[in-house]
Amino acid sequence: MSVGHEHVKRVYKMFVDFDGTITKKDIGEQLFLQYGDTEKAEAIIKRISSRELTSIEGWKALFEILNPVSIDKLTTFVRSFEIDKAFHRLVSFSREHNVEMIILSDGFEFYIRTILEKENITGIPIFSNRLIENGSGKPQPVFPYRDEECKSCANCKRNHVIENSSDDEFTIYIGNGSSDVCPAQYCDFIFAKDSLRKYCEKEKVTFFPYDNFNDVVSKLETLFAKKRLKKRHQAELKRKTLYKQG
Ligand SMILES: [Mg+2]
Repeated sequence: MSVGHEHVKRVYKMFVDFDGTITKKDIGEQLFLQYGDTEKAEAIIKRISSRELTSIEGWKALFEILNPVSIDKLTTFVRSFEIDKAFHRLVSFSREHNVEMIILSDGFEFYIRTILEKENITGIPIFSNRLIENGSGKPQPVFPYRDEECKSCANCKRNHVIENSSDDEFTIYIGNGSSDVCPAQYCDFIFAKDSLRKYCEKEKVTFFPYDNFNDVVSKLETLFAKKRLKKRHQAELKRKTLYKQG
C-alpha cells in the first residue's frame, strides 16, 4: 500500500481578495461615491455588479465622473477605512503554518498599501491595478495584469492563482465578489461570502461560508489537522482545461 504522497509535507497557498474581504467596505467604490458625482457613481456601480459593464468599462466610466483630486487626498480619505480585525489573526496563522499569502485585487494598489501600512502588516505580495498622475488633475487607472483573451476583469486574478501555485499544492481562496468567481474555481478550498457565496450556491461549487477571518482560521485549523486532505476535483479539471488551451 502506498501512502507516499501523505509523507510529503503539504504546501498551502492562500489568495485573498481585498475590498469587502479584508476591508469592511469596498474602498474602490467609496472613492467615487466621495469624490465623484455620487448619483452617477451609484448607477455605474450597479451596472458593474450586474455584469452589464466589464470591470475595465466600469473603472473607465467611474474615472470619467471623478472630480479633480490628487492621489494624496485620496490616500488621506482611505486611511479612515476599517479592516476585519481578525485579518491580523489570519496573517499570524499563515506565518505560523508557512502558508504563503497573496492579495489579489481588482481595485488599486495605493489604497491597499495605505491600509496595510496603517495596520502594520508587511511582506504580503499584492497584485492589483494601479493609479498614476499624468498632470490632468485627476488620477488615471493603469491595468498591468489584463488577460489578453478574457475581458471580464481588469486584473486577471485567475492568472495570478495559476502562476503562483502548482498542481500538488493546496490552494485556498478567500473572497466576496464578482472578480473572485473565476479565480476561486481554480482553488481547492473556497471561503465565500456575498456574491461569491451566491454564485457557489447557485452553481453547486463546494465552498465554506464565512463572516469574518476567525471563521476562516477555525476551518483551516481543522483542515490542516486532517491526516488526509483531498484536492478539489473540479479545480483540478479547470486547471487541466486551462493548460490545454496553453
Ligand atoms: Mg471584494
